[in-house]
Amino acid sequence: METIQKIKGTHDILPDTSGDWRLLEKTIHRIMQRYGFQEIRTPIFEATNLFARGIGQLTDIVSKEMYTFEDRGKKSLTLKPEGTAPVIRAFIENSLGEKRPINKLYYISPMFRQENPQAGRFRQFHQFGAELIGSPEPFADVETILNVLDIYKSLGLSSFTIKLNSVGDENCREQYKNALRDYLRPRLSKLCKTCQERFESNPMRVFDCKEAGCIAETEAAPRMLDHLDQASADHFEKVCALLDQHQVAYELDYRLVRGLDYYTRTAYEVVSNALGSQNALGGGGRYDLLTQELGGKPTPAVGYAAGIERLLMVLREEKLLTDNSLSLDVFIASIGEKAQEWASKTARLLRDNEISADMDLLGRSLKAQMKEANRSNAKFALIVGEQELESGQLTLRNLQQSEQTEVNSADLVGAIRKHLDAKFK
Ligand code: AMP
Repeated sequence: METIQKIKGTHDILPDTSGDWRLLEKTIHRIMQRYGFQEIRTPIFEATNLFARGIGQLTDIVSKEMYTFEDRGKKSLTLKPEGTAPVIRAFIENSLGEKRPINKLYYISPMFRQENPQAGRFRQFHQFGAELIGSPEPFADVETILNVLDIYKSLGLSSFTIKLNSVGDENCREQYKNALRDYLRPRLSKLCKTCQERFESNPMRVFDCKEAGCIAETEAAPRMLDHLDQASADHFEKVCALLDQHQVAYELDYRLVRGLDYYTRTAYEVVSNALGSQNALGGGGRYDLLTQELGGKPTPAVGYAAGIERLLMVLREEKLLTDNSLSLDVFIASIGEKAQEWASKTARLLRDNEISADMDLLGRSLKAQMKEANRSNAKFALIVGEQELESGQLTLRNLQQSEQTEVNSADLVGAIRKHLDAKFK
């Protein structure tokens, strides 16, 4: 019979790598807690119009990449392609803003986008992200940047670059867009079809187009940073000054745009120096107008989203992952039925005492059981046959150092714990 295969662009995370995921998730939780961010978990699917409004009809995500389907009640649902819109929906729906003036929320979650799979680009992938909701201050922008950098640094990562820009706000952007349109109009025929199409609705997106022609035509175009009004310019200057004070290096990048109206002021991206074309590790910025766009009270906010698979790729590339697979404390190798029964009872006793234990479940030879103990990455093998049961003296073999000692069955838990502490702490 034909076997069923996983869907293109998805991955199984098998036991040989799930330990790396656990390490990463543990680090994220630890650093988030250090910053006072609290975890939020939102559903995997939402009403489609949340994303249409929360990300924008004109984005690639909404126009081309969403997994949208009708449920049996003919309601249009979408698997979440990103985390910010759901978090803000939950923030509004649960009146979190009325409970505290500042909400610092974070998530770790799978995301779904129907993109063309390639290295570092999948259809189900995972992101962690933080949203700092309620503060308009540059300090808040910087908190989120420091937070993501601390997560990277805690994992040992050092070769990345932070790109920074300001996309202005509703007070200065329209004027700037007009200046940009005036500049692009005589050059329109040299731009790609997509950029021509979004010339009226979303001219700033021309800056993140990867087509060589569009890049060349925009080298000398007017830049948002030169068209900020006083308030946005002051905000940007303060963000830069704070980053300087924290000795965080960054590069200004006028091509970093978030071409939607509810993104405001700060935009940033963290780029790995160790990845190829898909080198963006994460991106973020301020979105002061999103909450009201989704029907809530106007609430300033800033946040980022960062890819987990790409982070793992860099960590692997830079040899920063040690063996994170789980090891077993004790494998009980038994010879004979009575000993197997004893093994079952003893495994339970050890587990009750927080010592991980496993045993043979196939009635195998001692040699085969010792092989299994090694496959389980066990620290010790406890070897027991009829004779050992009678004498109460059992053999405890340290599998990683090939030494063995005798332990007494009367105080097995104490003896094993002592050996674990002496050799593996
Ligand atoms: P975005 O939400 O598009 O700003 O993406 C934030 C981060 O998520 C990116 O910098 C990537 O690290 C990661 N990411 C986005 N799309 C994908 C994808 N299709 N596959 C893997 N990682 C992705």
